[in-house]
Formats: sequence, C-alpha cells, structure tokens
Amino acid sequence: MSLVGQVAIVTGGSRGIGRAIAIELARQGARVLINYQRNAAAAHDVVTLITEGGGEAIAHAADVADQCEVQTMIKYCLEQWGRLDMLVNNAGITADTPFIRMKDTHWRAVIDTDLTGVFLCCQAALAPMRVQRYGRIVTIGSLAGLAGNVGQANYASAKAGLVGLSRAIAREVACEGITVNVVAPGYIDTELLSPLPDALRKWSLDAIAMQRFGRPEEVAPAVAFLLAPTSSYITGQVLAIDGGWVMP
Ligand code: NDP
Repeated sequence: MSLVGQVAIVTGGSRGIGRAIAIELARQGARVLINYQRNAAAAHDVVTLITEGGGEAIAHAADVADQCEVQTMIKYCLEQWGRLDMLVNNAGITADTPFIRMKDTHWRAVIDTDLTGVFLCCQAALAPMRVQRYGRIVTIGSLAGLAGNVGQANYASAKAGLVGLSRAIAREVACEGITVNVVAPGYIDTELLSPLPDALRKWSLDAIAMQRFGRPEEVAPAVAFLLAPTSSYITGQVLAIDGGWVMP
C-alpha cells in the first residue's frame, strides 16, 4: 500500500493495459481517475471493481487530443481530491496501413491521440504537480517506437516522439520533485491487437523469446514501481516489457 493518500489519473483507464494499471494503483492505495473516450460502461465497470474492493475511483470522459477536455479533466480531479500526484499517459490508438497507402487522416488521427494527447496531458498535469513540487509521470510507449513495425509508420512515429518529449520534460522538471519515464510494451493481449492478421501474429510470436504475448497485468506493476515515491532518482528512462522480443 505504498500509494495511500495519492491521486492518479490513468488515461484510457477503462480497458486493456490502462485498466490493469488503474486496478494496480488502487490496490496500492491510490485514488484513481479513470479516463476514457467513448465506452462509459467499461470505465464504470473499473470504478465498480475498485470501489467494491474498498478503493476509491471515479470515471471521467475526455478526449486526450482535445486541450479543453484535458484541462476540464484535470480541474475535475483537483475539485474531487485536491491534488494530483501521478499521471499515466496510456490512451492510444492504431490505424495500421502500409506506409505507401497511408492517408493523412490515418497519420493525423494517431499522432493527435498518441503524441499530441501526451503533450496536452503532461502540460495540464504539470501545473498542480509543480505547485506541490511532487509528481510522477509514466507514458506508455511501444516497442514499435524503438524498433519500427510494418504498417505502423504513424504509430511508430508517435511512440518514438513521446520518448523525446518525455526526456525533454524530464530535464525541465527534474529539480521540482517530478519524474517522467516511459514504459514500452511489446505485444500485449488487448483489443488493440484484434486487427492483427494471423500471419503477422505468428511472425510476431516467433520473434519473442518467450513465444507468447504479454498480459496487461504483466505491465501494470512496472508502471506502479516507476510511480512510487521511492522511485525518486529514476527519470528520463524507457523500460521495455516485451517477453524478450527486442534485446539490445
Ligand atoms: P485498448 O484499445 O485495449 O484500450 C485503449 C484505451 O484508450 C481505452 O480505454 C480507450 O477508451 C482509450 N482511448 C482511446 N483513444 C482515446 C482518446 N482519444 N482519449 C481518451 N481515451 C482514449 O488499448 P491497449 O490497452 O492495448 O493500449 C494501451 C496503450 O498501450 C496504448 O497507448 C497503446 O499504444 C500501448 N501499447 C499497447 C500494446 C499492445 O500490444 N496492446 C503494445 C505497446 C503499446 P474508449 O474505450 O472509451 O475509447
């Protein structure tokens, strides 16, 4: 229960990896705002699960790519709980297409959510964190942003971009008690992977040393570790969680 009394926002906390992170943070004693965009039922399910387990959580709809909605979300969190200690930039989408056929709409949709969304959430969350002189930010990147991936020029660019973004912010706020890190999963079994064709699924499995995709519950504890007060000397880092897919 190392996070008792602390407040977290998990973007895209209603499903997949974000859901597992929200549940893990609540298990460790944090109060958690579950952000989502469209699927209110899924977000409320997570809230129910947490509150029935004795924890505290609220759901809030906001498109992370919309500055006004992001600012309203931070304001709502502060009104509810008076502080913000942890931000998990987890919301993300894909729009996979071979690069040669990629339309600018595919490009912009992914960059807007997966990169600009992180910029907007970090900027809004840093205001209260800087006043508190304490904060923890973890952004969910991807191995695709480090290694590239077929059909994912848009996604790989966004995920690579957020590493630079996170490191730049980490340097700017390092002396204010705020850390900024990236967790980069490999293949994790969520709805995001449902469009993956069977051939690509098999090719991917062959490349992973553990020969299986990960589970959201195998990502969440590492995120919680980086968000803990005790992780005070870790900043600007990228932690890969990929079952031994990409090894330097
Ligand atoms: P899912 O598709 O399972 O869940 C996505 C979540 O993000 C949902 O809660 C969704 O809410 C929310 N979301 C999507 N767009 C927005 C938006 N514009 N504003 C707010 N919330 C939004 O995805 P995963 O759990 O698989 O992925 C989570 C993160 O992990 C992403 O950043 C992804 O890129 C990254 N990742 C995933 C990998 C994988 O293999 N699954 C591998 C590497 C990285 P709603 O349902 O309401 O739309």
